[in-house]
Amino acid sequence: MRPVRRGDSPQATDFDDYRRALPELVYRLGCYCSYCERRIVTMLAVEHIEAQNNVPLLEGRWTNFLLACVNCNSTKKDKLVDLSLLLFPDRDNTLWALNYQPDGTITPSAAAIANGLNVAALDTLELTGLNVPVRVTLDENGKQVALDRASQRMEAFGEALTMKLVIDKAPSNPDLRWMAVRAAVAHGFFSIWMEVFQGDPQMRNALIDAFPGTRASGCFDTNGDPVSPAPNPDGLAGGGKI
Ligand SMILES: [Zn+2]
Repeated sequence: MRPVRRGDSPQATDFDDYRRALPELVYRLGCYCSYCERRIVTMLAVEHIEAQNNVPLLEGRWTNFLLACVNCNSTKKDKLVDLSLLLFPDRDNTLWALNYQPDGTITPSAAAIANGLNVAALDTLELTGLNVPVRVTLDENGKQVALDRASQRMEAFGEALTMKLVIDKAPSNPDLRWMAVRAAVAHGFFSIWMEVFQGDPQMRNALIDAFPGTRASGCFDTNGDPVSPAPNPDGLAGGGKI
């Protein structure tokens, strides 16, 4: 889950209609679901971290907004959110807290476990349905098609690994690196690209800079490695757990 900073609210008061925050959120965070990290070109919605039905006061509050796809939004619904017991990309180093596997699964990282956040990481995956296993769907030729979030992660992993193989053959070719970053931006799944390009500070820094709002999170050092705990520069409640 890509750590982000949305920054100060573009207006002095809460939003009368939360949907009007969408353009500014997309500008600052990119056109990606804040949870599953897919690039969503239609139906991307303003997500309330704490559901408006549970905390009506926060319905128009900028600091309560992220972006979410239909799948993550409908899974999360009106579930109660305790910011001190869950991990969120606007306040924790969620990249450092989760491991992305080539088979599409996401698990708590060793760092999360070492920091006593195993349950928080698992509950975060449960909240958003990111722990749902790959659903095998075959087309009429028996070829697997990626229709769900988990299988789309598998697909992204394959795409990133392919780009890495190409770059490894000509590591000093800047055009290949540029193409890889453009592919990452086009596909989304920042965390998977960061995982695949571990040990390549140049690529990791390029990825951090290419996805809006990521560098500003303060969750990465100059080598593109995670900084933990998240500095939580906006002082958000419950932030900086990892
Ligand atoms: Zn999503």
